[in-house]
Parts: sequence; structure tokens; C-alpha cells
Amino acid sequence: MTESKIATFLPRVLSGMRPTGKLHLGNYMGALANWVKLQEQYECYFFIADLHALTTDYADTSNIVPNTMEVALDFLAAGLDPKRCTIFVQSQVKQHYELPLLLGMITPLGWLERVPSYKEMQENLASKDLTTYGFLGYPVLMASDILLYQADFVPVGQDQQAHVELTREVARRFNQFYKLDGEEVLPEPKMLLTPSPKLPGTDGRKMSKSYGNTIQMTDEESVVRQKLKTMVTDPARVRRTDKGDPDKCPVGDLHKVFSTPETMAKVYDGCRSAGIGCIECKGWAADALVQVLKPIQERRASYSESQVREILKDGSRRARARAEETMQKVRAAMQLNLTSETGE
Ligand code: SF4
Repeated sequence: MTESKIATFLPRVLSGMRPTGKLHLGNYMGALANWVKLQEQYECYFFIADLHALTTDYADTSNIVPNTMEVALDFLAAGLDPKRCTIFVQSQVKQHYELPLLLGMITPLGWLERVPSYKEMQENLASKDLTTYGFLGYPVLMASDILLYQADFVPVGQDQQAHVELTREVARRFNQFYKLDGEEVLPEPKMLLTPSPKLPGTDGRKMSKSYGNTIQMTDEESVVRQKLKTMVTDPARVRRTDKGDPDKCPVGDLHKVFSTPETMAKVYDGCRSAGIGCIECKGWAADALVQVLKPIQERRASYSESQVREILKDGSRRARARAEETMQKVRAAMQLNLTSETGE
């Protein structure tokens, strides 16, 4: 690989994504597009959270490796540059198995039970048995992910703030119990609130794989146009002659994210005066999406599978080195370093 240009004196950022398979525009706008900017300003670690996938999908692990490869390709397609950030796979950094066990010893059960997504996910995924130790403990796994890299910042949307808050509490509790030469070992990370525009799926609900309403980052132009054709619109525009309002239309929301101000002006004028039809308007939205997706898809096509594996191998090696620095301090602070002290 060419030499890394990652600046290690910059504040450190960490974020990850579960290997759910090919990513969609909601993932891109909600996280990846922001990560691409962050890699220019911070020392960034971005990982594929395959151990987190086990907390809900433990019964069938057959998709984890292929999905990890798809997510890695989408990271690269979005513009993450392995020379500017470290991209790695969680399970390939064994310290991610070690720190959760140690932090689990000090984390009160009540802290885990009150994480909002604990009950929500159990209700939403009622077909799976989530009454497991691993599922209850996933916030400890998440706290360990962050604390292993001594991250200064974690980019979060509104719904993930509780996890970072819990991470801060776990770090505080650890630092109360254990010190190394009188110093605290685990710095508390701060939240980096990131803008995530409202991105509706084709049925008007939030774009999400579980709703089957996504536009994939890999969708070809003909697929994008077809999906837009069937997208729901302002319910007030039943006939071509009915006036509508882009502020009440999911297609209008897509325009706000992806279209130029000139197109937006035509959409507002035409929709509110019934001067344009929805088919024409959807065609303009499709034009804008195709323009956004084109460079992403070209980048994706430029990577071979063996290059992706090499990037993940190299990133995981770099992540292990950083994580091991933290673990040495953690083991020493907890007085678990008997053999290293005696030189064995
Ligand atoms: S013209 Fe466009 S913004 Fe207005 S209702 Fe139709 S699709 Fe929506």
C-alpha cells in the first residue's frame, strides 16, 4: 500500500456501521458523506461492526462476511480514503473482545436497561429472541469500541446520544476505580452532532432497509428512475390540475437535499400552480440523484475484491496497534499484567 497520510496529532474520531449489506442513500447522507469530510480534519477510525451484528443475528452468521465486503466497498465508494483514515473490521481487532469483558464487570445493570433502544429494538425485532446477555450488553461493546481508541469525538445523530452518554459514564466509573501512576486512563469522548437531512424512502417513511423503501448507492440509472416513478407524492395532488405543496411531498424532500436552487424554484412554482406534473418533477429529482450516484458508482467499480481485503487487513493492523496501546494501560491500571511485569 502507498504510505498513509493520516495525521496522528489531530483530534481522534471514531464511528462504525453494522454490516447490513449494500448501503442506501439514507446511510450515505446520514453518515458517510459526513465521514468523508471528517477524514480531512481529524484522525479518523471507521469500522464495520460485525460483532454488533451478532447481538441480533447470532442464529445465522452466514451473511456477515459478504455483507462486510459490501459495506467496505460502499465506504470506499462514498469517498473514504484509506490513506486518510483507518478502515477496519471490528472482529479483526481482538482487543474488542477483551475490553467489553472488563468494562462489563463495572457497568451496573440498570444503566443498560434504561438505554432507550434496548426496549425499542426488542419490540421492533419481536421475531428474534433478544433476551440475551449479549444484546443487553451491546452498549458496553459500543463503549469499548470508542474507549479503545481514546476517541476525542464521536459523530452522532439524535438517536445515538444515549450511547455516547453511557460511554462517558462507564469511562468515569472506570477512572474512579483505577488509575495508572495517579493518572486517569480512559478519556471521556465528546459528541460531534452531525447534520443529517431528512431523507424519505419511496413510500414516504424514513429511508430504511427494514421498510424496503430504499434507493441503493449501487442502483443503476434505470432503477433509480423506476423507483422515483412509483414514489408517493403530496396526497392533495390527485389530478394533474390539483395544486400541491413540495413541503408536504417526499419527492419535494429529495429535491431539497439533492437539487440545485434553480430546480427547487421550478418545483415550488410548478407544484403550487399545478404548472408541472408529478412525473416531470420526479424526473428532475431522478436527474439530481443520478448525478450524485455517478461518481460513487465509478469509485466502487475501481476497487477489486482483493484490494478491499488488503485495505481492511491493513486498517485492522493499524487499529490493533492503537487499541493495544489502550489495553496495556487498562491492564496495568487494573493490575492484570502479572506476566508482562515478570517478563514472561
Ligand atoms: S409536483 Fe413534485 S413536489 Fe409537487 S406533489 Fe408532485 S412530485 Fe411532489
